Amino acid sequence: MVKKNKGYKFRIKPNKEQIIYLEKAFGCSRKMYNIYVDMLYSKLEEENFVNGKISYKSMKFPTPAAIKKDYEYMKEIDSLVFANVQLDFLGALRKYNNEYDGKTYCKKAVKQSKTLDRELTFKDLKGIPNFKSKNRNQNSFTTNNQNGTVSIVDNCFVRIPKLKELIRFISHRELPESSIIKSAAISKNCKNQYYISFTVEYYVDEVKTPSNNILGLDYSQHDFYVDSEDRRANYPKYYIKSENKLKKEQQKLSRKILKSENWVKHKKKISKIQNRIVNQRLDWLHKKSYSLAENYDAVIVEDINLRAMGQCLKLGKNLSDNGFGMFRNFLKYKLEDRGKQYIMIDKWYPSSKICSNCGNKNENLQLQDRIYKCQHCGLIIDRDYNASINIKEVGSTLLAW
Ligand SMILES: [Zn+2]
Repeated sequence: MVKKNKGYKFRIKPNKEQIIYLEKAFGCSRKMYNIYVDMLYSKLEEENFVNGKISYKSMKFPTPAAIKKDYEYMKEIDSLVFANVQLDFLGALRKYNNEYDGKTYCKKAVKQSKTLDRELTFKDLKGIPNFKSKNRNQNSFTTNNQNGTVSIVDNCFVRIPKLKELIRFISHRELPESSIIKSAAISKNCKNQYYISFTVEYYVDEVKTPSNNILGLDYSQHDFYVDSEDRRANYPKYYIKSENKLKKEQQKLSRKILKSENWVKHKKKISKIQNRIVNQRLDWLHKKSYSLAENYDAVIVEDINLRAMGQCLKLGKNLSDNGFGMFRNFLKYKLEDRGKQYIMIDKWYPSSKICSNCGNKNENLQLQDRIYKCQHCGLIIDRDYNASINIKEVGSTLLAW
């Protein structure tokens, strides 16, 4: 048995009274976060901090309970909400220290500093925790389940702390069998619709029966991937059509006068197309990974550095997310949910250079060689197909059964 954590999001329909509480909780959660950010900035000012890493562990921020004493209205709100704010804030600081070098400033701030003739401060540092606003940030709060304080009742209501009345909720899927709700995040989107996201914990059986039903995937810039059964991922042509349309529309936009009426109108049109493309792509990634997870007991991929290789399914600047990276994540959790295996092999394994028939290594293989010709055994094979067989072979030795 293996422990899993997973999120499940549902729409909820709070009544007027409940909305009042939820809105208060959003506000208090944001207020608490901003208090922490404010404290951080004051402490940084005291230290004459310019940039670099923040030694937040020695800063000794007060607990939410201590802060709450000064804010009478916060007493109405479930105290776990504030505990989560503190965790969130400390997490943001850790992320800043880990992911940003502490020397890079936000582009927007750099621009502003030139036009406004002001000096850049630590507040402009990229990735530093920043004040949250009602309009700019998502309205949300998180609480935890303590012996049933967060629960689903009769599959059509949810219980959350501090609310006596249950909130109506729309169940579109079941939580995994014998799962335990660990926490719940309640949020509101820009259409004033409310949602609850449960993080649940559950156990699944691992499939440990040896199986030959294994697939290897080789990342391909052109085909997305080629598998060890010589099939290509086949990204739908009509998706590519809408992507080309987007490119054309973006060119049209660049010829319009910046921020003119026509420009704004056209910009809106473009975001609509972009939105559709993102959804189409997500849908495709989900379907692809679903069918692989359903049909194979193990899938093996390469741990390639996608950023260095250039991205797959590359679109306009705003859409250039990492399709293959996302695909690998989907595939991983879909396989693991089914108790199956996902294996990532080392990025230094020369999957393209080795002959999948005799194991000879062709050091002279060039990036533009689309066909692999083995000098040793005479095999002639598509380059990516050859690589995916090698990936499958080397990955198969790592499987746990
Ligand atoms: Zn060979």
